[in-house]
Amino acid sequence: MTAPLFSLEGRTAVVTGGGRGIGRSIALGFAGAGADLILLGRPGSHRDMTDEAKSYGHSVTVVDLDLSEPAHAKAVGAQLAGDVDVDILVNNAGTIDRGDSTAVTPDAWNHVLQVNLSSLFFLTQQLAGPMITRRHGKIINIASLLSFQGGLRVASYAATKHAVAGLTRALANEWASHGIQVNAIAPGYIATDNTRPLREDPDRVRAITERIPAGRWGEADDVVGAAIFLASRASDYVNGHVLVVDGGWTAR
Ligand code: NAP
Repeated sequence: MTAPLFSLEGRTAVVTGGGRGIGRSIALGFAGAGADLILLGRPGSHRDMTDEAKSYGHSVTVVDLDLSEPAHAKAVGAQLAGDVDVDILVNNAGTIDRGDSTAVTPDAWNHVLQVNLSSLFFLTQQLAGPMITRRHGKIINIASLLSFQGGLRVASYAATKHAVAGLTRALANEWASHGIQVNAIAPGYIATDNTRPLREDPDRVRAITERIPAGRWGEADDVVGAAIFLASRASDYVNGHVLVVDGGWTAR
């Protein structure tokens, strides 16, 4: 029997930053859809969720990776590519630096670029090699509304998220003929640690909520359906798309 359109049974998914927030929800959603998980993140970051992930009956492997070092991301990617047939890669982990652009230091600038962009690229590069050989793979980058808009006092973040959208399209073009779909999800305002400073400011909360047609902020679980779609054979003819999950923010 053909596997259901959105099933991830028999698939192995790599997720970066699966210990909390959006990555945690995607990882658990994938486990629920049948995938084996390989979770990449800083030491200890997945400690609180592996039991829940394993409860779905599929394997869960945790590998240490600090994305602030692109060379480390490349090395971990090369090791995984040699050891495992990876079907799905979700580049979820990300960092944000909030502040006036006049005060951004080179170190702070470089850190955001390394985590959000350079490490994402080199990890993807390594895992894509075997996908090309096997003519099968799903790569999902977590972009942002700031892949389309400038945001407020988050210059390095907006720069990287614009780049993630461009990179998604560039890699989709390059690898579509090899049976690989590269797509992105652009979440709207989601209640995670990433947006905690905004949510602690009642004026920002009110201004943002009033502009969201759905009338509410998203939860991390709101992103899961889009991720399963882009990871499953349901999206086999979807290439280079940036799928907004934003309660209508960009439609307004
Ligand atoms: P979050 O709760 O702050 O989670 C960030 C994740 O990235 C954590 O798992 C964190 O791991 C990981 N990470 C950060 N720096 C890392 C590093 N140097 N090495 C390895 N892992 C690192 O935020 P989130 O909202 O779930 O963010 C997930 C993704 O969604 C990010 O790419 C973010 O830009 C994007 N996004 C979020 C929103 C939103 O409204 N929340 C909107 C658009 C896009 P640790 O636990 O080790 O810190």
